[in-house]
Amino acid sequence: MNDCIFCKIGAGEIPAKEVYRDDEVVAIEDLNPQAPVHLLVMPIAHYTTMAEASSTSASVAGQLIAIASRLGTESGGESGFRLVVNTGTNGGQTVGHVHVHVLAGRRMTWPPG
Ligand code: 5GP
Ligand code: ZN
Repeated sequence: MNDCIFCKIGAGEIPAKEVYRDDEVVAIEDLNPQAPVHLLVMPIAHYTTMAEASSTSASVAGQLIAIASRLGTESGGESGFRLVVNTGTNGGQTVGHVHVHVLAGRRMTWPPG
């Protein structure tokens, strides 16, 4: 996926503020934060959506949720946090490489826009 911006971030070819990295997953600060803490947790390997990742590799999908939950807990503490996985056009996904948003540091509203 030569034209995928998150593949390039995963490969270290495009700079990002990394807050976590292991052999399979990287977490970065969002370029356009929607909350005081706004992180993106993504696999280094390319999967377009969470649906594709979870049907192809349940362990990668599980790791994304586990790491996002840990970062959310560290960021939001007892006040909590929100995980979001936008999927496809109707889901509002703008980057076609699966990522979990971790939002914390303010009170979120519901329903989403
Ligand atoms: P989506 O709309 O696909 O759910 O989320 C994509 C997110 O990626 C957006 O919140 C956007 O601000 C963020 N984003 C897009 N390009 C970059 C980039 O080059 N670097 C970083 N750190 N975030 C990006
Ligand atoms: Zn990619």
